[in-house]
Amino acid sequence: MEISTKEIYRSAVWPSRTVIAGPCSAESCGQTVETACVIAEEKSADIFRAGIWKPRTRPGSFEGMGERAVAWLAEAKKQSGLPVATEVATPAHVAALAGSGVDMLWVGARTATDPFAMQALAEAIGSYMPDIPVFVKNPVNPDIELWIGAMQRLLQAGVTNIGAIHRGFSVYRSAPYRNAPIWQIPIELHRRCPGLAIIHDPSHTGGQVSLIAPLAQKALDMGFSGLMIESHPDPSAALSDGGQQVTPRALRELLDGLVLRAVTDDSDSLHRLRERIDALDGQLLHLLSQRLEVCEEIGEYKKMKGMPAVQPERYGRLLTASLEKGEALGLDRRFLSSLLETLHAESVRRQLEILNRRD
Ligand code: PEP
Ligand code: MN
Repeated sequence: MEISTKEIYRSAVWPSRTVIAGPCSAESCGQTVETACVIAEEKSADIFRAGIWKPRTRPGSFEGMGERAVAWLAEAKKQSGLPVATEVATPAHVAALAGSGVDMLWVGARTATDPFAMQALAEAIGSYMPDIPVFVKNPVNPDIELWIGAMQRLLQAGVTNIGAIHRGFSVYRSAPYRNAPIWQIPIELHRRCPGLAIIHDPSHTGGQVSLIAPLAQKALDMGFSGLMIESHPDPSAALSDGGQQVTPRALRELLDGLVLRAVTDDSDSLHRLRERIDALDGQLLHLLSQRLEVCEEIGEYKKMKGMPAVQPERYGRLLTASLEKGEALGLDRRFLSSLLETLHAESVRRQLEILNRRD
């Protein structure tokens, strides 16, 4: 049964600007409870997070404290008063958490990548705790269908309170990020599932403390619903992800430095500006269609003369000239070159169709 993204939209019931914070891993009962209590005292988060089972890229790394940490999370909840969240990757994790009082689950990026693991996990959550909110991190590879598919598996299993977390993508040469933020993907997810809560995880995206605040600000500026930030009382001694964790005090300062832009505005002046955008878009579409029609005429000519569709020198000259003109008009060079490349690819596609047409 195919579940539409509209159902993901309907499933989203989550307040905006939620902050989820806590250590990468629950390392001891003391560290877990202490971190939760400081975060609660400083009102730095709505939900406390701590990883119990850590999916690590390489064997031999610290893989979490496992089942005994379930009780630490419950204790942290009791003493801090904060709702608590942890990551689940297998049905056994879900079974270990059943009845523990855990308030929210998230699915890690590695698990979201694997449809078999995701299916088994979805079924376990659906049978043990179908009402719990589950946030799904983006899969490690930049594939929106896989991300949506993971959420659909949860829905099919009867889990209805779903959200998404953008934590960056594993791409070759992601520097300076640990996982490159590809903002178009969560933006497209938002377009397809308009009411879905999508939060940002600047800790796993940035991988270093200095990148957390700028990433968090960017996410807020783009209208993300909240943030997940890792916080440890002594990051240099953390058993996992030490380089990207901030102390609870630094977390408070970081949050205080962020500017929230949550105003919604339906004023006339915004409306008029949007009308101008709509009119300009209409003109752009007309021009694009006319331009491609001329390309087709050229395609007919090339077919008649037996010429190939691509003339690299002509394309090179055109690109250089347009880039120069565009820059003089204040257009960003990278933006313009990707636009022109897309346009050229479409012209070539249409001309190839003409060249290969059987007359
Ligand atoms: C985590 O949140 O600690 C974690 C392992 O994240 P990710 O799945 O984004 O790597
Ligand atoms: Mn981590």
